[in-house]
Amino acid sequence: MKGLKENFKKAHILVIGSGIIGKFNALELSELGFHITIVDSSQHKNSSNAALGLLMGNMYQKRKGRSWALRKQSIELWPNWLKELQKFNNELNIEKPLIQLTTNEEKFKKLEKFINENSDQNLKILKEGSIIIENINKIFQTKNIKGIISHKDGRINAVSLLQTLNICLKNKKVDFLEEQIIEIKKSKNQWISTTRNNEEIKSDIVVLCNSLKAVDLIDSAYHNIKLKPVLGQAIEVEINDAEVDLLSLPKQFNINGKNIIPLSKSKLIIGSTDEHSTRPEDNIFGKLTKFLDKTPNWLINGNISKQWSGIRSRPDGEPSPIMKNLENGLILCTGFYKNGILLAPACSKWVANEIKNYLS
Ligand SMILES: Cc1cc2nc3c(=O)[nH]c(=O)nc-3n(C[C@H](O)[C@H](O)[C@H](O)COP(=O)(O)OP(=O)(O)OC[C@H]3O[C@@H](n4cnc5c(N)ncnc54)[C@H](O)[C@@H]3O)c2cc1C
Repeated sequence: MKGLKENFKKAHILVIGSGIIGKFNALELSELGFHITIVDSSQHKNSSNAALGLLMGNMYQKRKGRSWALRKQSIELWPNWLKELQKFNNELNIEKPLIQLTTNEEKFKKLEKFINENSDQNLKILKEGSIIIENINKIFQTKNIKGIISHKDGRINAVSLLQTLNICLKNKKVDFLEEQIIEIKKSKNQWISTTRNNEEIKSDIVVLCNSLKAVDLIDSAYHNIKLKPVLGQAIEVEINDAEVDLLSLPKQFNINGKNIIPLSKSKLIIGSTDEHSTRPEDNIFGKLTKFLDKTPNWLINGNISKQWSGIRSRPDGEPSPIMKNLENGLILCTGFYKNGILLAPACSKWVANEIKNYLS
């Protein structure tokens, strides 16, 4: 350990898992000068690739506690991350604003109260009669949709973000290993991680960013870590109604709990469901399109043009996410459930600080 402290920057850190959390951690740590290796055998089939990329931070209604602190920090960190990533992909952007809508009068009253209690320039009530609300009501053939707008929140394309992070990580000389880790153990101040092919990777620190599977690599009973799988699903719907122009809707919004992203005049994405299972359900179209008392005909008659899902890990018995320094140089960063894309900047900052403290 003494040697490691003296040679701070020479420490080798193994990041297990290459979803959004693993990639952000690897990048943050590589900026500090460490030698980083990311290991993952199926980085294209994870929950991060399924994400809709909504960054719902500022419109989060609980303005205290750990969850709000993480969101707040992430909102503050995102602009710098974006600037850095745009050096590698100048088309990567955060589309703003984000709109939250409801047809439930009680819920709207709560939203109104929240806005009135938070004199935040970036949050506003969408008044009845405003062009945005008129357009939304017209497209959804109703009169009772109301909501709020946040000019600080928005959406980033998750797949494009992950691809850009890969280019950036390569540029920062982060090593990538296409392997699955089946065991980790400590031996003489070093961590030995064994791959499915029986290769041993030695590192000074291990950061577990492998979502649900993190519990397979630690003594989860001893550390009292429990994670549950929660399936999230999304569909791309193609409509066939010349009278409806989906581009007259806002770029991204949530209505009665469903996230909607219009892609073109006749295509939109709807997500996501919350199921305590790992298998996609059959009637996904019905589940995702029923968010109003009366579903408009253009939506009922639409067809699924794409469908995808991802398994999110939700902590059982404690709030999301789980960020813990388990034992000497073994750090856990998992259980991001619905907000991994939003929270990645704040969590990687937390991990970097833990490692700096551990090594200093
Ligand atoms: C449909 C859907 C919509 C969503 N929308 C949003 C949204 O709008 N905004 C938002 O912020 N979040 C959203 N999320 C949530 C977000 O996707 C997750 O919170 C986030 O992806 C969690 O990232 P992760 O890196 O922890 O996990 P993952 O992306 O699942 O990555 C974990 C990685 O670990 C690897 N791994 C596992 N075990 C091992 C092992 N033993 N060895 C090596 N590698 C291993 C896996 O292969 C995987 O690549 C959405 C999720 C879904 C499914």
